[in-house]
Amino acid sequence: MKLDTRAMRHLTSEDWRVLTAVEMGSKNHELVPTPLIEKIARLRGGASGVHKSIATLAKAGLIARMKEARYDGYRLTYGGLDYLAMHTHAARGHVYSVGGSRVGVGKESDIMVVADSSGQKRILKMHRLGRVSFRTVKANRDYLKNRQSASWMYLSRLAAVREFSFMQALHAEGFPVPEPIAQSRHTIVMSLIDAPPLRQIASVPDPAALYADLIALLLRLAKHGLIHGDYNEFNILLREDKEDPTDEESKITLTPILIDFPQMISMDHPNAEMYFDRDVACIKRFFERRFHFVSETPGPFFKDAKKTVGKDGATRLDAVSEASGFTKKMAKDLEAAIREQEANKDDDPEESDEEEDEDDEEDGSDDGSEAVDQGPLVIGVKVLETQEGLKNLSVSDET
Ligand code: ADP
Ligand code: MG
Repeated sequence: MKLDTRAMRHLTSEDWRVLTAVEMGSKNHELVPTPLIEKIARLRGGASGVHKSIATLAKAGLIARMKEARYDGYRLTYGGLDYLAMHTHAARGHVYSVGGSRVGVGKESDIMVVADSSGQKRILKMHRLGRVSFRTVKANRDYLKNRQSASWMYLSRLAAVREFSFMQALHAEGFPVPEPIAQSRHTIVMSLIDAPPLRQIASVPDPAALYADLIALLLRLAKHGLIHGDYNEFNILLREDKEDPTDEESKITLTPILIDFPQMISMDHPNAEMYFDRDVACIKRFFERRFHFVSETPGPFFKDAKKTVGKDGATRLDAVSEASGFTKKMAKDLEAAIREQEANKDDDPEESDEEEDEDDEEDGSDDGSEAVDQGPLVIGVKVLETQEGLKNLSVSDET
């Protein structure tokens, strides 16, 4: 799914108000009845042009009429939700322009380079949970039953909220993660890490040292009560730092930066051991395949890590999102959706890691998502636009 911001500059404040009305109506209606859209939009200060706005928004694909509907109404599309989030980020000054390159597109998210008003590059992550239709029949499915068409908006928002709260907590605790900047709806804005994912690294000078660093990082998370849950070569970026930046020959240190947190779970989770072991196994398998490195030290083992939780004054971070209003039900819904998505991934032979790894061994380049900087993919303006292009995101009213 692309974010096409071209229509953005043409929307009037009335159009934005109507789009917001559809979003508000979506909280209780899968298909928001047209009279309700009118009512909400008017209440928010609109006058007459509601129908005109509906037509404009529908034409831009931001709202859609539903087929086979029993009454006249509209639903918000992914594009519409994207626009509302961008509008909010722009109004708050967190995003000023959208770059032309999409860093990555996974099943769960779109990652784009954006910039703030000073031209500082940032990353915008748009969660797309529920984008893939739920094909498999699993016990989890009960949670999502009957809500499938509307649930993507809810689930994607949950993913963003949870990821943002973990990123904030980890960042505050001094973990090597991007700096969390803002969250709106299903999106988060964070600092851009200028480093490739481990997946793209063909060789390192000292695999044993890097392996030890990554295991130490995993154990440090455990000590704070957390398991990453997707600790793999896509979610670890590897930054090269010169000890002395002015010296060509200077020694280079490699710093792993961790990303991607919606699926993080507590060390107290009923399946914690399985997730912990899976994260450890992921790293071991990658190091063996890519760097032909096998650690002589067995483990680390869950039971040992479990004993360290909260020790030495380590703040527990596993309840941060609950503390900020994320209910048990939300956590359950999100987890069910993430597991469902994982299961879908495993079902699909073309998407499986195994297969990709085989192909990939040869050149070590492709990361299974779109590569960085392949030119403008997303919108009709150049990367980090000029003054003119920047107007695209300027907004007149606060949302
Ligand atoms: P997903 O949930 O779809 O896996 P990720 O958060 O893992 O999304 O991001 C997907 C890819 O986008 C990463 O593998 C990485 O290449 C890139 N990426 C994500 N966040 C950043 C960031 N802050 N800085 C640089 N690259 C990033
Ligand atoms: Mg990822």
